[in-house]
Amino acid sequence: MIEIQDITFQYQKKPLFKDLEMTLKPGNLYGLLGKNGAGKTTLLKLCCGLLYPQAGRLSVFGRTPHLRQPAFLSDLFLVPEEFLLPPVSGALYRQMLAPLYPAFSAERFEAHLREFELELPGRLDRLSHGQKKKFLLAFGLATGARFLLLDEPTNGLDIPAKGQFRKILASELDDSRIILVSTHQVRDMEHLIDPIVILDSGKILFSQTLEDFSSHYSILHGELPDGAVVLYEEQVLGKSLSLVEGELPGALPLDLEFLFKAVTTHPDRFTTAAPVDAAGSTRKEVAHA
Ligand code: ADP
Repeated sequence: MIEIQDITFQYQKKPLFKDLEMTLKPGNLYGLLGKNGAGKTTLLKLCCGLLYPQAGRLSVFGRTPHLRQPAFLSDLFLVPEEFLLPPVSGALYRQMLAPLYPAFSAERFEAHLREFELELPGRLDRLSHGQKKKFLLAFGLATGARFLLLDEPTNGLDIPAKGQFRKILASELDDSRIILVSTHQVRDMEHLIDPIVILDSGKILFSQTLEDFSSHYSILHGELPDGAVVLYEEQVLGKSLSLVEGELPGALPLDLEFLFKAVTTHPDRFTTAAPVDAAGSTRKEVAHA
């Protein structure tokens, strides 16, 4: 379990997070969505202990990230958006780093590399950007760490690799793990991430499981029933595509990009009220503008 309680953080003078609250539970693949600059990377770094909150409490499986205890570090893996790999072979990298992760699986690492159509490579620093990303994702997912943080994992992957990545990621989720994927490429993670957390300007605007979403909202194309409370709409093929309150008949499956646009366009209509429990018990107040 990861508990973020009343976290405050700022880089220089401008506050980014103020009293941020969130709980992440094992067995979930969280999608952290937000525009560029929303604070996604900063939140990931706080969870890893790479940044320290100025106030509040942060606990990852009972440990405080910024203390960086060995047992904490061996149970966590971050794949940053940008990274360098050392000038060593893939085999040497594995030999050096795998022992740091007691739950590392050589079989799964090899299976992931095969899925990505990447042989255990020679000099890692000579790989292309996309190949480096595949290598680190394959390694990170095979560490068996209970907390995986993937920052914009699909950036730099080509279309087949995005599909391979989705397959690998789905195979790695189990009841003990928390996978937190930050992305602004909403489409790449569709039908994979659940719950969805939408961050904007350092605030959580939305945090719900897909099941919660469909019991609170419906997406309808065309005519609306009388009294429908429309939270967002746009024109698609000459008809209104609307996000409306309530579970209504004829609702279309969730379109993440549409939800994202709705929430970031009218954040006031999706205000999270009580402490956000991103695994399902979010209580919301919808303020109608
Ligand atoms: P995201 O990952 O959602 O794109 P970031 O967490 O990288 O957002 O950035 C959130 C905000 O913090 C942005 O306004 C960014 O300019 C600022 N920021 C990020 N890193 C630093 C830093 N090292 N020093 C000062 N400001 C920073």
